[in-house]
Amino acid sequence: MVDGQKDMCVPSELLPVCPHCGSPMTMNLRADDKFVEDKGWHEAAKRYENFLQTRNGKRILFLELGVGYNTPVIIKYPFWRMTAQNPNAIYACVNYGEAVCPREIAGQSICIDADIGILLAGLG
Ligand SMILES: [Zn+2]
Repeated sequence: MVDGQKDMCVPSELLPVCPHCGSPMTMNLRADDKFVEDKGWHEAAKRYENFLQTRNGKRILFLELGVGYNTPVIIKYPFWRMTAQNPNAIYACVNYGEAVCPREIAGQSICIDADIGILLAGLG
């Protein structure tokens, strides 16, 4: 697709399709009612919930990488709320152009306004 793109467009025949019905494939985003929450998703959600419960009040880093304002109620707002509720927590975010946090947790926050690709490459 990268090799075949021209003027920001990809030839239609290169778009991935469902192997079963041939419908165009799409990313699994919470943009509509088609977000897939399968068995693996529910198991991961359970592990995450268990992690949060067993670490309640402990030293914890809420590391947010490249989360924007498309669906902030999934990651961003809960991270802010859990940081505000736990004086031992740190909220850190890397975001290009939207590295912000509420004033209430500014003292517990590290907001890095940067291109995550460049930032991570610099760590290597
Ligand atoms: Zn299909």
